[in-house]
Amino acid sequence: MPDLTVEFFAFVNINNTIRLREGKLFVRLSDMLEGAPDAVLRAIAHILLAKMYRKPIERTYASRYRRYISSQDITKKAHIVRQMRGRKRIESAQGRTYNLENIFEELNQRFFYGLLARPQMTWSRDHARNRLGHYDPAHNAIVVSRAFDHPRVPCYAVEYIVYHEMLHLKHPVKLRGSRRCVHSSEFQAEEKLFPHLDEAKAFLRHL
Ligand SMILES: [Zn+2]
Repeated sequence: MPDLTVEFFAFVNINNTIRLREGKLFVRLSDMLEGAPDAVLRAIAHILLAKMYRKPIERTYASRYRRYISSQDITKKAHIVRQMRGRKRIESAQGRTYNLENIFEELNQRFFYGLLARPQMTWSRDHARNRLGHYDPAHNAIVVSRAFDHPRVPCYAVEYIVYHEMLHLKHPVKLRGSRRCVHSSEFQAEEKLFPHLDEAKAFLRHL
């Protein structure tokens, strides 16, 4: 029996995989199967091992598994999870030039006493420049346009974009009468504390 590593994994769909690598077996079970009854887990183990070693799958195991994942609770859960995970792929904070998580943490220490909770930090998929960055409340993510992940872009320009979005976290949109006030006077005053504000704005304007 080879060494075995089994873990739950956040697949988009209910999915279970088994791989043999360097003499070790790696098994990933959909995290939607956490808490499944032992009999179901046993059935999955049987199915995966049978597939791995090209043995026939016993019908009782196959039907036990199928019955479980087609139960109403599980299909409902799978549907919701698929919507959440499938809709927006959070890309990575690590770009070619800049790491957005590091920039966030550094700014958090410098300007916010380390008190802001870090949302997901991600470079956008596309290179659009019309939107420098934005905060996406549905995914609790700060998204920065990938156009700025480039050595030609000075660090302070990327920092400014992230800093601006961090201020949005700190100063949620207020309603003044019926008008939405996105950049309140407090927001603007705090933005002026950014040391390279003018250079950053000038750079981003002339890009
Ligand atoms: Zn803004």
